[in-house]
Amino acid sequence: MPPYAILRKMYDVFGLKEMAKESFARQLERKISGEEPARESRGSDPAAQLISTIELCRVSPGLLTSLGVSSGLAAGTINKLGTPAQMERWALDLMTLDKIGAWAITEPDSGSDALGGMRTSARRDGEDYVINGQKTWITNGPYADTIVIYAKLDDGSGEEMRNRKVLTFVLDKGMDGLVQAAPMRKMGQHGSPTGEVFLSDVRAGRDRLLGEREDPKGGGRQSARDNFVAERAGVAAMSLGIVEECLKLSIDYAKHRRLWGTAIADYQLIQLKLAQMEVARVNVRNMVFAHIERSSHGAVPSFAEASAMKLYSAQAACQVADDAIQIFVATATSPSTGSSNSVVTRESFVSTPAPTKCRSSRSRKTSFATSSSRHPVTDVADRRHRSNPCTTASTRAPCRDSRATSGRTPRASRTTPGLTPRSFES
Ligand SMILES: Cc1cc2nc3c(=O)[nH]c(=O)nc-3n(C[C@H](O)[C@H](O)[C@H](O)COP(=O)(O)OP(=O)(O)OC[C@H]3O[C@@H](n4cnc5c(N)ncnc54)[C@H](O)[C@@H]3O)c2cc1C
Repeated sequence: MPPYAILRKMYDVFGLKEMAKESFARQLERKISGEEPARESRGSDPAAQLISTIELCRVSPGLLTSLGVSSGLAAGTINKLGTPAQMERWALDLMTLDKIGAWAITEPDSGSDALGGMRTSARRDGEDYVINGQKTWITNGPYADTIVIYAKLDDGSGEEMRNRKVLTFVLDKGMDGLVQAAPMRKMGQHGSPTGEVFLSDVRAGRDRLLGEREDPKGGGRQSARDNFVAERAGVAAMSLGIVEECLKLSIDYAKHRRLWGTAIADYQLIQLKLAQMEVARVNVRNMVFAHIERSSHGAVPSFAEASAMKLYSAQAACQVADDAIQIFVATATSPSTGSSNSVVTRESFVSTPAPTKCRSSRSRKTSFATSSSRHPVTDVADRRHRSNPCTTASTRAPCRDSRATSGRTPRASRTTPGLTPRSFES
C-alpha cells in the first residue's frame, strides 16, 4: 500500500502542513530578496526534523524515506535552484504533501558514480529540451506527481559524456514519453515504493529547467552533492531510530524468553550482544545530537563528515539488527509459523517463488500491501506493539504486475543478482 495517506494524516494531526506552508513562505521570501536559500522541509528547526526522523524510523523507515525524498530532496532542490515561479508551481504542494515528489539521479549503469556515469540526455530543440534516458531505484517513482530529474546536456559539441553539464528539470506525471514503472519488490523499505522511470523524447520547455538557465548558481552537479550531504546526515538519524527500537525489543525479549529454566538475559553471551547494541546506540546518538546542535547554529557538515556519519551509523544499524535476529532467532525469521515479532530473512525473501501473473484484480491491487516480506533493519518497527503480526500477514508472495503504472511497457531493465526488480518480469 502506498504510504501517502498515512503521511498526510500525520501531517494533519501534528499541524505539519501549516508548518510546511510557513516554511515555504519564508523560503520564497528569501528567494525573492536574493538571500541564500536555507534548506527546510519539516519546519526550520533541525531538531524538529531529525527527532521526528528518529521517531518515525522506530516504526517505519520506509515511511520516512518516502516523506524525506518528497518534501526534502524533491522540494528542497526546487526551492534551492528554482525561480520563485517554479517554487510556487511545484514546491509548495510537495512540502504540504498535497502532491508527491521523486528525485531521480540514479541510472542502471551509474549508481555510486551517479554524475559521471549518467547517460540520460537533454538535447536542445528550439526553446525546448528533448529528454531521453532511464532512471532506476527512484523512491516514490511509481506514484510521484512531480519528478526532479537530472540529465546531461547534449549541445551537439561532442563533449565526452562524463564531462557534460548536468541540468535539473521538473517533470509532471502524465507527460508524453514519461513512463513511471510499477513498484519493485524489495527486501526492505516496504513502506516506500521504489521504481524505474523511463524517458522517451520527453519535451520540456525552459520553464521546467530549474532556474530557467543552464548554469544556475549551485546547480547541476553541486545541487546533487548538496543533497547527498542532507541525505547522508539524515540516514544517521534514521539509523538511530532503528538501533533504539532493536535494542528495546531485544531487551524485552531476552527478559521474557526462558531456556534451561532461566531468562536468556541471564546468559553472558546475550548480555554481550545487548552491551554492544548499547554501545552502538550511544555512539550513533552522540553523532546525531552533535549534528543537531551544530545545525541549529547554522553549521552544515562537509561532504566527508556527512558520509562518515552515514557509513558509521548505517553499519551500526545493520549490526544491531543482526544481533537482534541472533537473540530472537526463529521468532525473527519465520513469517508463516504465527510466531510473534516475525521478520523474514533475506534468504526467504529471495527464494520466495512469485506467481508469474496476478490472478485477479484483487491480488493485483493488494500486491504491495500484503507482502509478508519484512527486513529486520528496514521494517523493524512494523513489529512494534503487535502481539502477533504474522497471524494477520499473508504469506502469499506478492504478485508481479508487469505493467507500468502508465500502462506502457518500458524497455528491459538491469537486474541486480539476488534482488530482482520484478516489475518487468512477465
Ligand atoms: C530503497 C532505495 C531507494 C533509493 N531511492 C533513490 C532515489 O530516490 N533517487 C535516486 O536517484 N536513487 C535512489 N536509490 C539509488 C541509490 O542512490 C543507489 O543504490 C546508490 O547510489 C548505489 O548505487 P548502486 O546500487 O547502483 O551500487 P553501485 O554503485 O553499483 O555499487 C556497487 C558496489 O561497488 C562499490 N563501489 C562503487 N564505487 C567504488 C569505488 N570507487 N571503489 C570501491 N568500491 C566502489 C559500492 O560501494 C558497492 O559496494 C535508491 C536505492 C534504494 C535501494
